[in-house]
Amino acid sequence: MATLRFQALNELLSRAPKDVKLPSNKVTDYYGELVFNNDAMRKYLSRDAFAAVQAANAKGGTIDRKQADGIASGMKAWAIEKGATHYTHWFQPLTDGTAEKHDGFIDYGDDGSIIENFSGKLLAQQEPDASSFPSGGIRQTFEARGYTAWDTSSPAFIVGTTLCIPTVFISYTGEALDYKTPLLKALSSVDEAATAVCQYFDKNVQKVHTNMGWEQEYFLIDEALYQARPDLALTGRTLMGHSSSKDQQLDDHYFGSIPERVAKFMIDLEVEAHKLGMPIKTRHNEVAPSQFEVAPIYEEANLGNDHNQIIMDLMKRVSRRHKFRVLFHEKPFAGINGSGKHNNWSLGTDTGVVLYAPGKNPKTNLQFLTFVVNTLMAVYKNQDLLRASILTASNSHRLGANEAPPAIISAFLGTEVSAMLDKIVAEVPDHKMTPDEKTALKLGIGRIPEIILDNTDRNRTSPFAFTGNRFEFRAVGSSANAAASTTVLSAAVAAELREFKVNVDALIEKGVKKDEAIFQILKKMIIECEPIRFNGDGYSDEWKDEAAKRGLTNITSVPESLSKYLEPSAKKTLVEGGIMSEKELEARVEVELEKFVYKIQIESRVLADLAINHIVPTAVTYQTKLIQNVQGLKDLFGADEFETLAGARLELIKDISNHTSAIKKMRKEMIEARKECNVMEEGLEKAHAYDQKVRPFLDQIRYHIDKLELIVDDEIWPLPKYRELLFNC
Ligand code: ADP
Ligand code: MG
Repeated sequence: MATLRFQALNELLSRAPKDVKLPSNKVTDYYGELVFNNDAMRKYLSRDAFAAVQAANAKGGTIDRKQADGIASGMKAWAIEKGATHYTHWFQPLTDGTAEKHDGFIDYGDDGSIIENFSGKLLAQQEPDASSFPSGGIRQTFEARGYTAWDTSSPAFIVGTTLCIPTVFISYTGEALDYKTPLLKALSSVDEAATAVCQYFDKNVQKVHTNMGWEQEYFLIDEALYQARPDLALTGRTLMGHSSSKDQQLDDHYFGSIPERVAKFMIDLEVEAHKLGMPIKTRHNEVAPSQFEVAPIYEEANLGNDHNQIIMDLMKRVSRRHKFRVLFHEKPFAGINGSGKHNNWSLGTDTGVVLYAPGKNPKTNLQFLTFVVNTLMAVYKNQDLLRASILTASNSHRLGANEAPPAIISAFLGTEVSAMLDKIVAEVPDHKMTPDEKTALKLGIGRIPEIILDNTDRNRTSPFAFTGNRFEFRAVGSSANAAASTTVLSAAVAAELREFKVNVDALIEKGVKKDEAIFQILKKMIIECEPIRFNGDGYSDEWKDEAAKRGLTNITSVPESLSKYLEPSAKKTLVEGGIMSEKELEARVEVELEKFVYKIQIESRVLADLAINHIVPTAVTYQTKLIQNVQGLKDLFGADEFETLAGARLELIKDISNHTSAIKKMRKEMIEARKECNVMEEGLEKAHAYDQKVRPFLDQIRYHIDKLELIVDDEIWPLPKYRELLFNC
């Protein structure tokens, strides 16, 4: 019987691109048609109900029960017209991915007949059984209830025949069990702090929102080949596989012409995304073979993050229609680039100003510099927290490898902005400024803008780069819920802005003029956070030494990094900042540590299985064939000639034995190590143990398997090889 590998390769020969029809070549004809957006609300809601939603969005308030009934009934009418039969509270638990429990509109009416029902109560709140979602011990199983509550700031949408209502997910005792709740708190915290600082420059600013523009990288693998790789199917990455002779050396994939089969998938995806109101704009080939990227135009961060979660789900479904599987793992293939999710982050005012876009005059430029410096300081003080928000079992393969930023957090500003900050340090005097000095300085900062916008340097090696009108946090993993990083970043900047305001106000109270007070505080901050600024090559070894000299941290261990969530400085940002309670924070760390342990445990089990059930038997089969051949040579030629004829084959026979023995021995040791770790009760200790005692075996065992792959007859090798997985679109 042919192995799955050869069946899959055969199947591949008959693959044809799937035809996709655009609903119209004008995207505006169908954009947002599956979203209960303002247009739909105007049509289906009473004036009062519509106003209630708008007011709740503007002020973050709640909607009363009577209004909620009206809204629910309008939403139901709209959804049924679009073909929906069910509704769900859609939420983002602390697992990877989103959760939904569908309920039909079907219900008994007062007279016992069947009706379609959807009330304000059902819209506003649901009580799903929360016992199977991770809670880090907050919710014991005997208090299984959690509840979901409507997030009015993200509109309802329809997937298939289900109306999805974005919600937060909270334990019965009120603690957040999801990614959205702390994100909303952080966004509101940075709104408040940034609005207060904006008031120094423009009294008209009443609200500051956070913008997010994500760039999602992914791999597409043919579904038949994927199914023939149990490691891919169960862990999202290849646990073995010798590198292909050609992979990304020639850089011929990046921005190359998109293969037709993939292009059809992308178009199909974009149509669905546009119907769901996601402003998807960019598609291209990435650096590694079979790697691609999709990106929208940036949106308000809560909505943007929801959209990223929705599109990841959509990509899984749409890819299947095209007989692909999508991989979000940060490092599915050793030796070639992995996937990230760049998180483009900025703040914008309700007066239409992006606070990280250099202004056109000295006043707006001082505002720009104020926000840049506060952000730098926030990153400097919260390096460990930022890293903790992005470092996971899977992302740890990518960070520090050559395509990804290292585990050192630093910020890139580019030459122009760097020069501006240096200028402030050099030219703001310690004494009270004379009017001439003030004018000179203001004129100086009035001159930069156009240059920056046109010439933002494109340093690709920095984990946190200023890119003209925003910061790009590049260390985020492709499979992650980016809310974790946006929460930490926004909370950190909020805390910094609050401190800045206190310091500036104190000087003003002492009689220092406002602009001068701002300059003086900025100068101090620029000097203090200098170590975080790095414009050089973040991938180089020199940077590691230099960063150590500067006192920057470099943590590659996931458990160690996660434990930083519980340091006093992290609590200052998150707990004092009102983003999470201490209990929520501890629970979150526990959940993350648990996920880390499970991921390594699963990888270790899968590898052990494959090694012993797939690889060793195959190697032995081939070895037996060699032995028979050698035996035959001996019979034919006799001992003298045989030595010269069979020498190389004898070596091979020995090599195979050495590799299979090593695999068997290490597999046993790995299983023993797992047993030792499994009895540990304390989360951090267990995670450290898994990291140090189990994880190293994965690479060590793989080494021998990959050597065998090079030796053993291709005809009988059971698993699709890298060259087959990566070059088939
Ligand atoms: P690149 O690959 O050069 O970084 P892309 O166009 O692929 O650029 O992605 C950049 C992302 O940043 C897009 O989602 C874009 O809308 C977003 N973006 C642009 N300006 C801002 C901003 N001020 N705030 C947040 N995101 C932004
Ligand atoms: Mg980018």
